[in-house]
Amino acid sequence: MTARAATDDFFEHDEPELVQSLVAAHHLVAMLGLDDLTYTHISVRSRINHECYYIARLGPLFSQVKSEDIIKLSLEGKFISGPYSCNITGQNLYGALYRDRPDVHAALHTHTPDVIAVASLEGGLANYSQFSMVFYERVGYFPYDGLALEKQGVLSNSAQQVALLMESHGAITMGKTLHEALFYALFLEKAAQVQLKMMATGIKPIIPSPEVSRRARDQMIAFEPDLGRRDWEALLMRLHAKRSA
Ligand SMILES: [Zn+2]
Repeated sequence: MTARAATDDFFEHDEPELVQSLVAAHHLVAMLGLDDLTYTHISVRSRINHECYYIARLGPLFSQVKSEDIIKLSLEGKFISGPYSCNITGQNLYGALYRDRPDVHAALHTHTPDVIAVASLEGGLANYSQFSMVFYERVGYFPYDGLALEKQGVLSNSAQQVALLMESHGAITMGKTLHEALFYALFLEKAAQVQLKMMATGIKPIIPSPEVSRRARDQMIAFEPDLGRRDWEALLMRLHAKRSA
């Protein structure tokens, strides 16, 4: 089915602010180089119906996503509004994730090489840097089973998890908000980069103790309210400055 015109009443989203934030999330992820052409996805749960979420249709690059590209789906994959085309893998993953985790309201899927590398190592994400501390005892692992073309079983089995590392595939970071999910995506990226750099030296790493790691994690989580909001606003300013340059 083809996409309908942007002026169609069909595209009058009932949560325009939330949809705009989702559009902005795509643009920020593209600006930061965390996108993968048209292959990954970002979603946000509806605030007025927690059994539904928003996601971009399959097609545009992240940098080109517009509000009329955003569709609304139920957790079962039923199309509520928007053009009838969607990455089926996103539909299956977010349907399962939002069902498993009522506390999660936004999720961001990436395929960046460094995170795929770390996700596919025995032991996964190591506790090698301050970037990784925020994930200490908060990462789930998802074995590779081909493309997620069927409805998924349990994806996240703990309310502590803020990131799922998908072996041979990538990651999903999650949060109460889009900016929190982006915060974790950025920290995960940097944690993976540091880990791979350290492993490449072949020298035995210095690893902080579990007590120190837990303390650092808790300090980072409590550093400020509304985790990720400050970075989100700063990044939006950078995006606007780039566009008006
Ligand atoms: Zn993927």
